[in-house]
Amino acid sequence: MSGCEGGSCSTCSTCGSDDPDRLPPGMLAAYNLNQSTADGILVWVETVQGPDGPEVAAVSAELLGAARKLSDGRVFAVVFGGLEVKPLYPQLFGYGVDTLYHVRGKGMETYRPEPYADCMASLVRRIEPATILMGATSRGRELAPRLAAVLGTGLTADCTGLTADRRRMVMTRPAFGGNLTADIECSKFPQMATVRQGTFPRPPVEEGVGTAIYWQYEPDCESGILSDEKVAESSEDIRDARILISLGDGIRDRSLIDVAESVASKVGGMVSCSRSLVERGWMPRSRQVGMSGRNVAPELYIAFGISGAVQHRTGMSGAKRVIAVNSDPDAPIHGFADLSLIADAGDVLREMDRALSKKG
Ligand SMILES: Cc1cc2nc3c(=O)[nH]c(=O)nc-3n(C[C@H](O)[C@H](O)[C@H](O)COP(=O)(O)OP(=O)(O)OC[C@H]3O[C@@H](n4cnc5c(N)ncnc54)[C@H](O)[C@@H]3O)c2cc1C
Repeated sequence: MSGCEGGSCSTCSTCGSDDPDRLPPGMLAAYNLNQSTADGILVWVETVQGPDGPEVAAVSAELLGAARKLSDGRVFAVVFGGLEVKPLYPQLFGYGVDTLYHVRGKGMETYRPEPYADCMASLVRRIEPATILMGATSRGRELAPRLAAVLGTGLTADCTGLTADRRRMVMTRPAFGGNLTADIECSKFPQMATVRQGTFPRPPVEEGVGTAIYWQYEPDCESGILSDEKVAESSEDIRDARILISLGDGIRDRSLIDVAESVASKVGGMVSCSRSLVERGWMPRSRQVGMSGRNVAPELYIAFGISGAVQHRTGMSGAKRVIAVNSDPDAPIHGFADLSLIADAGDVLREMDRALSKKG
């Protein structure tokens, strides 16, 4: 043996002048210039109209908190809007944003997918983040694929989990009709994901310092807005509830929904449900927890007459504590509940309502 394993010898005849992967003399593998230097996470901050002006959408706040934990690199945020967005800066820095790009420009203050995607692409080329995260909202689901196409990268949509191995992201999402969850890695940077609300907890707003940069952008596309009608929406959202009283197929008497509402109001919670009750037409879709419903992360989730199918479990996996009330001792939900009551759901609901009424 000549002892020339280091890859820097060019003189002996034994170590392959005909090896195509051989580096030139003196060059070490660590200096491979093809290796991307992309780093950090960019989060698109979606805003929603609140009573006193724009507010940070809950899912964007959750993603900023997650980005801070997942990355050792910088956390970038991009927000679109006029001067009315400025009061949100302290909150965004309080979630751990290092650099905030505030995009302004003619026609950039109202959401439009094409110019937003083009603008974000130019920002991405400048800051080279390793990861781009957006909420899996209706806008996020529209904007993210456009941006991925402009950047020529992959997108994992509707994620229910993210873990990081340094700059590499492992993105988890339901697959095959929700019967499996798939862990997906993107083979290049930037890696992109849309993430469902409730996947991560909402972070506290701490004292934070960062840099805000105005990013002036003039779109060159001709599209405009023909009308801007606001659709009336319920102000209540199960994703914001601290306590959820959740009802499933084991609820056979419709009047138990009123009992559940009464219990929820007494404990400061809300009523949610499995898909069974939505399909029966007893509850609106906005109350459905699960893969094709909403992801929730309450302090306490009390499931009445719910079996714990994987599609339902996916949506409630963020709950801190789970209590299962199910008459079947073999129901899967008992396998992951913190407390199980093998009992009739109706009996327990009525008893809770009575006890809470007495308490006052
Ligand atoms: C692509 C896809 C997406 C889906 N998305 C969702 C989703 O987002 N959310 C969702 O919930 N489901 C979803 N599903 C449906 C899911 O597979 C289950 O069918 C559904 O979650 C079952 O709801 P359940 O637990 O209420 O009903 P069941 O599975 O029928 O369970 C009812 C439970 O009630 C118990 N029970 C019966 N009587 C009583 C009683 N008197 N007291 C106490 N317990 C009682 C039974 O023991 C049983 O465990 C999806 C399915 C597919 C294929």
